[in-house]
Amino acid sequence: MTVPTLPGLLVLAAFGCLGLGLASFAVAGVLCLRHVLRGGRAITRVRALHRQATHGTTCIHCAAFGPAYDNTWPCPTIRALDGEVAV
Ligand SMILES: [Zn+2]
Repeated sequence: MTVPTLPGLLVLAAFGCLGLGLASFAVAGVLCLRHVLRGGRAITRVRALHRQATHGTTCIHCAAFGPAYDNTWPCPTIRALDGEVAV
């Protein structure tokens, strides 16, 4: 077995660093994708909860809180999801 020279060790170290960098980049990408998918599923659940009543122009979920609560369709929750900022 031969002992690697210093330039050979440097090349091995460089490939090792490159490999670790690629691996950490891949792990970060997978974690980001999981986060985005989880957020998308949460938004889908919120939209399923806040849906328009078939018999009117109210949100089914928000109407359960009584007439004092803004339950007009789209309700504040759906408007917030759609990008409208409530003041
Ligand atoms: Zn609602």
